[in-house]
Amino acid sequence: MRAIILTIGDELTGGHTIDTNSSYLAGRIGEQGIRVSRLETVGDDVKVIARQIEIALGDADLVFVTGGLGPTSDDITKEAVALATGRKMVIDPGLRAQLEARFKRYKSATPAVVDSLASIPENSEIIENRAGAAAGFSIEHGDARIFVMPGVPHEMEAVFVHGILPILRRLPRSEVTITRVLKTTGMSESTIAGKLEPVIDEIEAGLGYLPRPGGVELRLTARGSEDRVMRILSESTRIITAALGERVYSPEGEDIHFVVGRMLIDRGVTIAVAESCTGGLIGHLLTQVPGISAVFDRAIVAYSNSAKTDSLDVPAALIEEHGAVSPEVAEAMARGVRERAGTDIGLSTTGIAGPGGGTEEKPVGLVYFGLAGLEGSETGRMVFRGSREIVKLKAAVHGLDLVRCHLLGRGL
Ligand code: ATP
Repeated sequence: MRAIILTIGDELTGGHTIDTNSSYLAGRIGEQGIRVSRLETVGDDVKVIARQIEIALGDADLVFVTGGLGPTSDDITKEAVALATGRKMVIDPGLRAQLEARFKRYKSATPAVVDSLASIPENSEIIENRAGAAAGFSIEHGDARIFVMPGVPHEMEAVFVHGILPILRRLPRSEVTITRVLKTTGMSESTIAGKLEPVIDEIEAGLGYLPRPGGVELRLTARGSEDRVMRILSESTRIITAALGERVYSPEGEDIHFVVGRMLIDRGVTIAVAESCTGGLIGHLLTQVPGISAVFDRAIVAYSNSAKTDSLDVPAALIEEHGAVSPEVAEAMARGVRERAGTDIGLSTTGIAGPGGGTEEKPVGLVYFGLAGLEGSETGRMVFRGSREIVKLKAAVHGLDLVRCHLLGRGL
């Protein structure tokens, strides 16, 4: 079964909006074992849209269209679908009644807007939009079927998840394609490739490398019957995890803050963070984790030297002697925040995020970490490459990974 995704709008072809709908849909449709053979983007030109839809309906079994469903003059997708499938546009009475009821509550639409939103190609199946006014719809055309969704990403997702996914799940299929993501940190692509080299022939799943700022993601893909796919994926995961060890922090594609947050919660280990160059990013990431309030006490952003002294009790003389970006200050920050908060663990970061401010001895991207615990404290040093934002992100992920290693019983 083959699918084509068509996204519509001048804001996409003009480069003003990034087409996130295509990647979302390609992922979700692919999960269902349906091969997406093309992604296409077309501007707001009714004839061009109609032609592309006609071609797509000839080339694929399923065509997914997003964008241009609203009531404004640039919203011409419905007309293009009608042209491509040889149907008239009609006002759907049921949809109009629903829209009237909806707009009565909000008192915000003229009759012309309601009529425009309730117009669809005749004999379409309407797909409810729980997140907005522009409904989706579907049409069977020859051997193919077209699904049309609004362009606003959260509306498109609502229509897809509630109205289209259940239809896809019921389609007869002999094969499924499933992708699993293993997340690693602290190793480059080439190091990982080297470690996997001796076992590469045993990994039956297709293996893809996706380098991200905090580490490399490994994408495993298998196709076939569901049983076979599940067996291949778990066996391949086992082989890779054995080869890479604790550098795989999630075999289920979870972000590191969720992994670390859950470890802290499960073990009842409390934490406080002192952040200089990460500017609160570690605190932000930890507070993304549901239930973290049981173990996360505070993140103090102490950027200036005086803030490090005032809020973390780092001796001014220590900063004077070693500089704010030093293992000594990182350690004092971690101890200081741990003592002030009365937590089990204190984590700290201090570094040079760049682009300026580096020296030969202390280059841009240099970050020191401190980890203070019950048994004393340790420090770590890393030099990260990339923009200011990337250095901050890499430092936050590395800091969280230090906590993970500490909880696994490894030193820094
Ligand atoms: P509505 O009438 O409910 O606003 P619509 O179908 O008319 O929906 P569009 O006018 O095409 O939607 O797009 C609305 C906004 O949604 C765009 O300005 C853009 O921000 C976003 N959008 C549209 N298509 C995409 C896409 N493919 N990827 C990401 N964002 C998109």
